[in-house]
Amino acid sequence: MQAKQYVEKVYEDLLKRNEGQVEFHQAAKEVFNSLISVFEKHPEYVENGILERIVEPERQLMFRVPWTDDKGNVQVNRGFRVQFNSAIGPYKGGLRFHPSVNLSIIKFLGFEQIFKNSLTGLPIGGGKGGSDFDPKGKSDREIMRFCQSFMTELSKYIGQDMDVPAGDIGVGGREIGYMYGQYKRLKTSYEGVLTGKGLTYGGSLVRTEATGYGLVYFVDEMLKGKGKNFEGKTVVVSGAGNVAIYAIEKVHQLGGKVITCSDSNGYIYDENGINLDTLKKIKEVERKRLTEYVKYHPQAKYTEGKGVWSIPCDIALPCATQNEINEEDAKTLVKNGVIAVGEGANMPSTLEAIDVFLNNKVLFGPAKAANAGGVAVSALEMSQNSMRYSWTFEEVDAKLKNIMKNIYENSVKAAKKYGFEDNYVVGANIAGFIKVAEAMMAQGIV
Ligand code: GLU
Repeated sequence: MQAKQYVEKVYEDLLKRNEGQVEFHQAAKEVFNSLISVFEKHPEYVENGILERIVEPERQLMFRVPWTDDKGNVQVNRGFRVQFNSAIGPYKGGLRFHPSVNLSIIKFLGFEQIFKNSLTGLPIGGGKGGSDFDPKGKSDREIMRFCQSFMTELSKYIGQDMDVPAGDIGVGGREIGYMYGQYKRLKTSYEGVLTGKGLTYGGSLVRTEATGYGLVYFVDEMLKGKGKNFEGKTVVVSGAGNVAIYAIEKVHQLGGKVITCSDSNGYIYDENGINLDTLKKIKEVERKRLTEYVKYHPQAKYTEGKGVWSIPCDIALPCATQNEINEEDAKTLVKNGVIAVGEGANMPSTLEAIDVFLNNKVLFGPAKAANAGGVAVSALEMSQNSMRYSWTFEEVDAKLKNIMKNIYENSVKAAKKYGFEDNYVVGANIAGFIKVAEAMMAQGIV
């Protein structure tokens, strides 16, 4: 069978078997489109059913998470952990707590994680989990009771050498702390079973900053590859969470100016550049909405709704959530002269939006490559936990920088080798895929 037909057939089967899981379909389609040339060169991957196996998670767990709210009412949420692929290491990937979470979302994230984790060059497989729990408006004690109940069930299926979750949307240092405490209590084991831990109990320096810093290091590599840099560039960022905050910090350190950030209700435009002290205070300390920002900076403007992509910029960094840039948004960005887009969130651009960027020669850093810094430092946290040792901020930061540079170079090389020069989407997919495929080949049909 021709490679193209093979890929199409596996995709059709995937659609049938995973009915209605539109986000998973989208993530798979992007990877599949990149791999046709790989299967032409490597018929052994076809013979060994690598693609059929890689799209089927090794294990999918769904469980009840009962908890009691502050009024004494019983609440029930659904918990997920999809252990997608362990060919190159223990399952690794975050937990997302958000009302939109369902099996399709967790599977798209888990699928992407396989290739992202492979790209880091570190020994970590792919997994993802979470819950449809909505942390918004919950008291600290409600968050704690939920995290404890969630971990009571999850603890049966994870371990430092088996599956190591971390944070994602709605799961930060506080939630990781509560879950770690519960795991330790249940298992009587002080082990690196979660990453993103606090610095007093086994966390790694730079983990908090890693995704945002790594994103900017990656985009800087793309710019440098074309003789450009961040100096004097106007940057539009979406989101106001952990990824956005530290992306803004690093852009400012490199001489660019970030003029926006956003949450699910609207966005801030500050022509003086987003004030990070204020943003950190509102989001990390007070856990309030972005509308607060204008109280401190009256020159800034808060606008309800989407629209951040209509602000003219040189560089766009989507750091909020999946499918936040559609075809129209991409066309607007191109019309306004964007030269580079780096995906801080997972799958923030639709397939149509990616085409617009690539067809218009915009430097496009896909999530798998550009936001891999977070999970890379998670893997460094695992290493430090295993050694019972910790590296300095400068040591971890230097390793992160180097990892992002390697991801960029490997993506460039793979794209070139397979005839897709400057297409980092294809390059990252191929580079990430080949290592996993080789490991799967070596380990037999399992
Ligand atoms: N949630 C992050 C991601 O999407 C980090 C995962 C981790 O550190 O394990 O890659």
